[in-house]
Amino acid sequence: MTRLEERIRRDGKVKDGSILKVDSFLNHQMDIGLFEDIADEFLRLFGDDNVTKILTIEASGIGIACIVAQRFKCPVIFAKKTKTKNIEGEVYATKVESFTHGQIYDIIVSKEFLKAEDRVLIIDDFLANGAALSGLVSLVTAAGATLVGAGIAIEKAFQPGGEMLRAQGIRIESLARIKSMGKDGSIEFC
Ligand code: 5GP
Repeated sequence: MTRLEERIRRDGKVKDGSILKVDSFLNHQMDIGLFEDIADEFLRLFGDDNVTKILTIEASGIGIACIVAQRFKCPVIFAKKTKTKNIEGEVYATKVESFTHGQIYDIIVSKEFLKAEDRVLIIDDFLANGAALSGLVSLVTAAGATLVGAGIAIEKAFQPGGEMLRAQGIRIESLARIKSMGKDGSIEFC
């Protein structure tokens, strides 16, 4: 998606060669006009798939997912991160290793909100090693729901998550795919 790539080039900041900071338009301050274009693109890609729920993970996926849910006219659920040891039976839970923070945490979704009859589109801001997306896929599977696919704003294609999850047969649509990032701040798209 050209507008997103141009914005990444203009305002994205490369940290340590592998982290892309997009705090000025996506992760902290949020450009809702851009989110609307992102949502339109996901509607074009997944609009015929009878999506009944948008699923994302807190916190940075929530903003985009809300605008996407508005387009699909369905609810959005965000998986909550928790450190609680004894998780009640009322939730689906799985473990995720955080790429940005390097720690392992549980993510949960209430069984009340994810049902076997749901057709789920997962939305997230980044795909890197694939841990967050794998965790969300596990929650969908645990609920017996149908996974329509995943819509990702920015995929760092030089990290293994996208390839690993596509090899499992998951439909992943990423709007900006980064081939490489340099220590000098340069960014190359696929
Ligand atoms: P993964 O689990 O695929 O390794 O990483 C996905 C999650 O880590 C995303 O939800 C995102 O919050 C965070 N993340 C991964 N890489 C980056 C990055 O380069 N920049 C930012 N801002 N977040 C990232």
